[in-house]
Amino acid sequence: MGAGLVSDVARFERVVRLAAMRFATLSAMDSIETLAENVSNCRACPRLVAWREQVAEEKRAAFRDEEYWGRGVPGFGDPDARVVVVGLAPAAHGANRTGRMFTGDRSGDFLYAALYRTGFANQPESVGPGDGLELDDVWITSPVKCAPPANKPTPAERDECAGFLDRELSLLSNARVFVPLGQFGYQATCRFLGVRPRPKFAHGVEVDLGDVGGHRRSIVASFHVSQQNTFTKRLTEPMFDAVLERARELAG
Ligand code: SF4
Repeated sequence: MGAGLVSDVARFERVVRLAAMRFATLSAMDSIETLAENVSNCRACPRLVAWREQVAEEKRAAFRDEEYWGRGVPGFGDPDARVVVVGLAPAAHGANRTGRMFTGDRSGDFLYAALYRTGFANQPESVGPGDGLELDDVWITSPVKCAPPANKPTPAERDECAGFLDRELSLLSNARVFVPLGQFGYQATCRFLGVRPRPKFAHGVEVDLGDVGGHRRSIVASFHVSQQNTFTKRLTEPMFDAVLERARELAG
């Protein structure tokens, strides 16, 4: 091997080593707090930014005296959680108003009451930051962090936001059981966890992800807690409680 080639190889190895060190430093520096700040300052999706701000400006009559959050909504809960609930996106007059996931609308009323009944929350009500709500062993998030018109993000918006979900789920180092709410959350969760082929979505469907870092990881899917499902009894309280109890059981 010529001297030139040896020094090229040495230079290449040094570059790789430095890149690995830089990556490790960045990973160690990343945190749930930094991520929350990045999410709330993000303006990457023009349609969603315009919508979340328009809703925040116009407001619903019942909330006209309130200051809407009107930004990306970070995940919420216990950073050491073993159970992670993955919804769809913030609601226009719920999380987009209060700044906290599933807080301030009927879907959230259903979700947090169930979390209280199953021992994951210290109270059934979720009104807004400062209401005393604390979650234990559960984290709540969504694949899209800004409120979309008609609750329907486009595939491009979903893909644009995927990096935030990936960072978030990677930072939740104790996460063992994922509870996606509805097809959208299910697909995003399966994508992050590399589930292939993906079993067909159904309420209560379970996916065993095998052993990861000495712990079993699984998915337990549920219908979404939307009013559309809960008012029609497609999703009832006992059905949803059973999913949460199963998640706790699988978390070990
Ligand atoms: S949806 Fe996600 S990527 Fe798009 S603007 Fe909101 S936070 Fe940013």
